[in-house]
Amino acid sequence: MTEFVPMPKELTAEDGFKFALIGAFFERFTVPCPKCYHFDVAQEDCQICFDEGVYPLNVSVSWCTIKAIYAKAVEHSNALVRAGKKHIVVPRGQLFMED
Ligand SMILES: [Zn+2]
Repeated sequence: MTEFVPMPKELTAEDGFKFALIGAFFERFTVPCPKCYHFDVAQEDCQICFDEGVYPLNVSVSWCTIKAIYAKAVEHSNALVRAGKKHIVVPRGQLFMED
């Protein structure tokens, strides 16, 4: 049984979600070293890629993407309700769904 918690339909900056979530998620990419990129082999003693020719780059997930992921999760939750799942409120205010 999945536990549910009260959440808003959408994330807004006004409610503090942007402040709470922006910078909390990253995508990690491996990118070519800008110093060694034009050579066939990595340059010795490169301080950027440490002679690997590539280096990891962490890119923050944008606020627009965070909101889009959240909206998709809300959409799926609503689909569960439409499919006949029912919310059950149990003591301590927790929400659960069951068939
Ligand atoms: Zn390099």
